[in-house]
Amino acid sequence: MQALVWDGQHLRLETTYPTPQADETTAVVRVRLAGMCATDLQILQGYMGFKGVPGHEFVGEVSAGPAELVGTRVVVEINFACGHCPVCIQGLGRHCPMRRVMGILHADGSFAEYVSVPVANLHPVPDSVTDEAAVFTEPLAAAFELLEQIHVQPSDDVVVLGDGKLGLLCAQVLHSAGAQVWVMGKHPHKLALLHPLGISTVLLADWRPRLADIVVEATGSTGGLALAMESIRPRGTLVLKSTVATTHALSLAPLVINEITVVGSRCGRFPPALHALEYQRVMVAPLIERVYPLAEGMAAVAHALRPGSLKILLRMF
Ligand SMILES: [Zn+2]
Ligand SMILES: [Zn+2]
Repeated sequence: MQALVWDGQHLRLETTYPTPQADETTAVVRVRLAGMCATDLQILQGYMGFKGVPGHEFVGEVSAGPAELVGTRVVVEINFACGHCPVCIQGLGRHCPMRRVMGILHADGSFAEYVSVPVANLHPVPDSVTDEAAVFTEPLAAAFELLEQIHVQPSDDVVVLGDGKLGLLCAQVLHSAGAQVWVMGKHPHKLALLHPLGISTVLLADWRPRLADIVVEATGSTGGLALAMESIRPRGTLVLKSTVATTHALSLAPLVINEITVVGSRCGRFPPALHALEYQRVMVAPLIERVYPLAEGMAAVAHALRPGSLKILLRMF
C-alpha cells in the first residue's frame, strides 16, 4: 500500500509498504481522510524516537475485522492499551504503561491507505458528521479533556495561549463551558475565526500579562511556558497542552511562590468530541487550510511545516 514512512532520519512516500492484516482483536481501517498535527511535525524532529507511519487523526471505514463492523465509518482512539494492568483497570488506558500509540509509539499510524487498530478503540461516526468534521475528533477530544481535568466555572477568566489548531479548539470548548475566554496568538486571520463565536482575542504584540484564573498553554513552543507563568493569578491553574521535543530551561520558583496548580493535559475520550461534532457545538471546517492526496504527502508535510499554517489534511480515497 501507499504510506508516508519516517525512518528516524527521512520521511518518504512508499508505494509497497506492507498492508496490515486483521486478527482476533484488531481491525483494519481503510483511511479516508487524515489530519496533520503539531505532534506529527515534532515526530519528524525526533519526538518519541518514533519510526514507522506517522499520523493519529483520521476517519476511515472498517475494511477487515468483526463482520458487524465491516463497512462502518469510524474514528479511532489512538492509545492502544493492554486492558488488564492496574492502570487500565482504573479506566486510564490512555496511560497504560504498556500502551502503543498510533503514529507516535510502536504502532503505525494513519498517513497510509490502511491502518491496523484494536477493535476496542473503534468509534462509529454518526451519519450527519462529515469526514471533514470527523477528522477533528481526536484533537477535539484532547480539548474536551480540559473539562475532565479542571473545574471551569462561568465566572472564570481563562487565557488560551496559542492560536494554533489545538488552541482554537481548546478556546471553543472552554467557551462552551461558560468561561470568559481570551485567546492570545500571532495570527490575525486565525484569531478572527473565533470572533463570530464571541470569543475574545488579543495579538501577541498587544499582549499584557493579566491575572487569569486558568491559563492553557497551547503555543506548541518552548517560549509559551514563561508567558503562561506571567499570566496567571496566585493559586490559579496552569494547563500544559504543548508537547515539544526540546527541553525547557526556566525557573519553577514562581509556581511555588504563587502556589500555582499545574495540570498536564494530553488525549481525551472520543464520545464528548463526537457528540459536539454531531450537534455542531464547535466550528472545525474553517480550520482546514488545504487537502492533499496521499500521493502528494511530501508536499502536504512541507505545507504543514510552514509557520502559521492551519489544518492540512491527506485524502486517501
Ligand atoms: Zn495530534
Ligand atoms: Zn494496561
